[in-house]
Amino acid sequence: MNIKKHGLRFHGSFTYRNRTDEIIWHHAEANCTVEDIHSWHLNNGWIGCGYNLIIYKDGTVHEGRPLNAVGAHASGHNSRSIGVCCIGRYDIETMPLAQLNAAKQVQAYLKGLYPGAATKRHKDVNATSCPGKNFPFSEIARTAGDASAEASAAGQGTSPSGNWYARLQAECNAQGFSSQKVDGLPGPNTLAGCPQLGRNSRGRITALMQERLISLGYSCGPCGADGINGAGTQAAIKAFQRDYGLVTDGIVGQKTWSKLLGLS
Ligand SMILES: [Zn+2]
Repeated sequence: MNIKKHGLRFHGSFTYRNRTDEIIWHHAEANCTVEDIHSWHLNNGWIGCGYNLIIYKDGTVHEGRPLNAVGAHASGHNSRSIGVCCIGRYDIETMPLAQLNAAKQVQAYLKGLYPGAATKRHKDVNATSCPGKNFPFSEIARTAGDASAEASAAGQGTSPSGNWYARLQAECNAQGFSSQKVDGLPGPNTLAGCPQLGRNSRGRITALMQERLISLGYSCGPCGADGINGAGTQAAIKAFQRDYGLVTDGIVGQKTWSKLLGLS
């Protein structure tokens, strides 16, 4: 996820969340910039821009406050939620495709970081019409990469064929790396069964790794999940490792698998 920083000057220091239970979506109710929002929120008497992330209509993603900072966007929920704002007026406008696609990528990215978090609209938690009646909330909220939704689907006995975790578990068993229950619920046995994928790895587990990266918003290049760990996949792995605070060596070992599985 490429998040552009703006060097905003905040009038005070951040406090940081120790849990993230909710991903809360907003619209700006205006066509504006991060700097505009920052100055409006300063005028509210806040330390500055209250949203963690802002998505422009061109699909670019921008930092308001750091991801793990407490925001100022949803009264009573700030200390346990991350706030994402889409530029635009979705009470009257229709979201452009570039912004919708970026919003889905952000949703997948945040579900990867905070697998247990519930996805909500601002109006679900406060008395407001934000993010507007035309905001494509359900399309964004059901984006692939929603680990909790996938895990609960598996738990309800849904066919595991569409469940990435279950397919990974089955493939690791088939290739002799593990002998685990295929339940679609990732745990320590799932992680232990994931083989290290070096810089030129090939095969079905590599394809599953690519599929996961793509669902989390990391493009593996024009060939997609082709089972070949080439230049595009290496770039995706390194971007993922950088975003998740891992050593950016392009090798998918246990620490990288753990993040891909949403375990830590
Ligand atoms: Zn709002």
